[in-house]
Amino acid sequence: MLSLDKYDVVIVGGGLAGLSTALELADKRKKVLLLEANPYLGGRTSSFNDNGMEVESGFHRLIGYHTEILKMLGKAGVNPDEIFTWEEDIEIRSVKKKTSAVFGVAPVFNPLKTLKGVTGNNRQLSPRDKISLLPFFTNGLKDYGKHPKILDEMTIGEYAKKHGVTENAFHFIIESFSSGLYFLSPERYSAYVFFGLIAPGIPKSYKMRIGAFLGGMTDIMCNPVARAIERKGGEVRTGVKVKELCIDETGSVTGVKTEEGEQINGNHVVLATTLFSAKQILLPEFGDHSWFEPMFKLPVMPAVTFQMELTKRALPKDRTTFGPGTVLSSFSEQSRTTFRHAYGRLSIILSEPEQFLDMTPEQTLKIVLEDTKRLGMDLDDHVFDYRQINHHFDFHSLEPGNNWLRPEQDTPVTGLVLAGDYTMQPYFATMEGAVVSGKKAAEAILKNKVQVP
Ligand SMILES: Cc1cc2nc3c(=O)[nH]c(=O)nc-3n(C[C@H](O)[C@H](O)[C@H](O)COP(=O)(O)OP(=O)(O)OC[C@H]3O[C@@H](n4cnc5c(N)ncnc54)[C@H](O)[C@@H]3O)c2cc1C
Repeated sequence: MLSLDKYDVVIVGGGLAGLSTALELADKRKKVLLLEANPYLGGRTSSFNDNGMEVESGFHRLIGYHTEILKMLGKAGVNPDEIFTWEEDIEIRSVKKKTSAVFGVAPVFNPLKTLKGVTGNNRQLSPRDKISLLPFFTNGLKDYGKHPKILDEMTIGEYAKKHGVTENAFHFIIESFSSGLYFLSPERYSAYVFFGLIAPGIPKSYKMRIGAFLGGMTDIMCNPVARAIERKGGEVRTGVKVKELCIDETGSVTGVKTEEGEQINGNHVVLATTLFSAKQILLPEFGDHSWFEPMFKLPVMPAVTFQMELTKRALPKDRTTFGPGTVLSSFSEQSRTTFRHAYGRLSIILSEPEQFLDMTPEQTLKIVLEDTKRLGMDLDDHVFDYRQINHHFDFHSLEPGNNWLRPEQDTPVTGLVLAGDYTMQPYFATMEGAVVSGKKAAEAILKNKVQVP
């Protein structure tokens, strides 16, 4: 079946990368069609009803210096202050030290709390521990700029040892941020990626604070962006999975074919899927094309989240909390923010993810409850419902040696552009990274002067 419509650009994937590409191009009056395989938009930022329980792909926080996503929301007419509540601190709970520390993370919005976090918390981090972090951070940020490839050959664990970080500072700070932010222990996490999360924020550190969503991300962020694309003349279709690319006799990409057998033509196709899906779509046609070779070698890694609906609140405050030394690498109470219908609601990112992929949710629950108890939350009699959400292949691997395998958005194949957090941009696997990749994909197309059919 051949669709009679012809589009300037067909975008495959309705996560933030695809939405950002579509919004940019619709804004420039291009005729765009966005196709999303799931019945809902958002990809890894989606929220949906899973057999009676409202869930999300995983709890997300917006880092204050990630400004491109805010610009995208502004362009779509979404007021960030209506969808985020701003947190000014984080908590680290340590079972090893049997203690917890709160750190202010908003140097301009709440300077006193930020200062108190650094100068205080001495029971958890002694002055010697704090001093041991100084050469680690200063050298790391320098190496990020000057020797990125060397930095990407090392894990953050190796880098911390090389720079004399004390065992305690390693446990409290390095373990929290590597496992908590990217599900990987310091022994697996690339030092380049670790510092890459911090470095782009330094010139914008005055914007630093943390945004927690005030509702499901599909409802309050992705759907409003889709409606803006439609208002600008674009089309958005969900529940349409693209199976293959259409290629003409010159080797140019001319459209896509869906699983239902529909052929849709476009002057350009933007593959804004995960790396795993992009490889599946590209391999049959471009498996022996040298430009795609590094990308085909780029490995994927999983993430697993566990979400519990509770009969009482697990924590006195909704804020990002880290649990180094437990499977709860990061977690948050959310009944005052994202899931306000719930009496209590805990969303957890589990680490290391691989060990949970083959477990039943019941097996995972048992392990989670043991560790929540160690972290000072006794929830045994308060779990009302729970879900485990596995992302088997959704992330490109953030282990050493992989960064330089990431592809640019513009490809040498006429009509084909890539987008997605795994494509080359400075923000790695984040919402900001996805949005920036979409902007870069749109720029690549506009540079090629899309013809209106
Ligand atoms: C548990 C978890 C916690 C996270 N926490 C944070 C955080 O706190 N802060 C932050 O900034 N980032 C966070 N992230 C990362 C962030 O969600 C991602 O980096 C970002 O959403 C990726 O967007 P994307 O558009 O590149 O990919 P995706 O969101 O994965 O979008 C790809 C889309 O393509 C669709 N698709 C795939 N194949 C096809 C096909 N054949 N046809 C049609 N459609 C297809 C998929 O269904 C999907 O909707 C987190 C992610 C997870 C999973």
